Amino acid sequence: MPRRILLSALCLAFLFSVSSAEDPLRCFVCGKKIKGAYIEYEGKIVCTQACLGALLPKCGTCGQPVSAGKGLKGEYLKHNGRYYCSQECFEQSLPKCGTCGKPVKGGLKDQEGKLYCCRDCYRQSLPKCAICGQPMEAWTEIADHRYCQACAKLPRCLGCQLPGAEVELDDGRTICKKCLEGAVVDQAEAQRIFDQVRKDMADRLKLKTEHEIGLKLVDARELSGVVGHRTMHENGYYHYKGTVEQGSGRVLSAEYRIYVLSHLSPERLRDVAAHELAHDINQARYPNVAGAKHKQAVEGFAQYLSAVMNKHWGQEALNTDKLNVVDPDYVKGFQKFLELDRDGGMKAVLDHMAKLNSADARSKNRR
Ligand SMILES: [Zn+2]
Ligand SMILES: [Zn+2]
Ligand SMILES: [Zn+2]
Ligand SMILES: [Zn+2]
Ligand SMILES: [Zn+2]
Ligand SMILES: [Zn+2]
Repeated sequence: MPRRILLSALCLAFLFSVSSAEDPLRCFVCGKKIKGAYIEYEGKIVCTQACLGALLPKCGTCGQPVSAGKGLKGEYLKHNGRYYCSQECFEQSLPKCGTCGKPVKGGLKDQEGKLYCCRDCYRQSLPKCAICGQPMEAWTEIADHRYCQACAKLPRCLGCQLPGAEVELDDGRTICKKCLEGAVVDQAEAQRIFDQVRKDMADRLKLKTEHEIGLKLVDARELSGVVGHRTMHENGYYHYKGTVEQGSGRVLSAEYRIYVLSHLSPERLRDVAAHELAHDINQARYPNVAGAKHKQAVEGFAQYLSAVMNKHWGQEALNTDKLNVVDPDYVKGFQKFLELDRDGGMKAVLDHMAKLNSADARSKNRR
């Protein structure tokens, strides 16, 4: 609280009269000769209240001498070493509440140093949970959304990845209503997107095969069955089975199939289809780049080609996910091809695959 000082008492106590016999006194402020009454303040003599004002401290808010107080009648306030002419000027000098804007005396401070006049205003300033709307002092941030502890634990949507997915699918996956609206659940729709992806890749990358590929839209349970293990991270699968004549190397029979997970967004489905089609291109052009030994190259190549296509389709945002895949072989492989691309473009990527392919052919022949 500010200290209140009575100024008028001070001033009036030092009203003196000049005796005409002495040397004329001069006002300390304006220098005029003093005739009659004068004021003495802290050992200095001044002629009028106006000149006295020049000696007094200035109001920290309005800049007027504190004697010009608005409505305080000669009183002024001192707070934290500063002077104020009036209660009004003092309150104006106070920090404002971050919520209601009222001047804050004392009050509450948040972690960023913002002040609030009361507990209510402080609570109103807190971020609200994106699901339940509760004000939170601590929260979990997911993709720029803030959640309270309880809501952060709600089931995540398979599309947007945010918690609070309302719909549970038969295979146990969960999806939010918004993502469900645009999700691809229909085989014919999936086929249409797949055909377009294949055409776009042939046009854009000049990479294509004549393989007859069967496309199958499956749920997570079916996909796990095909892949042979429980999969939570794979959204598609490329299947190739061929019989090759010993000696001649002639392909006697071949079966190509691509499985894609249902309920993906059209954008994600395009990304997955491009990835699996890259495996098909890999199979046709670089058949020796296959198996566990070449997993990094195989998956990296598929991630790289699908990333190029995502950029072409204006859905580049999906590519950041490719650096956060749980399986490190996908990430390392992808980074390797990005590096090759930076230095020598797509040609460097294809050259690298060709080199791996022929190196493996030689080692096979030696065996
Ligand atoms: Zn004067
Ligand atoms: Zn003032
Ligand atoms: Zn307030
Ligand atoms: Zn909540
Ligand atoms: Zn969603
Ligand atoms: Zn793959």
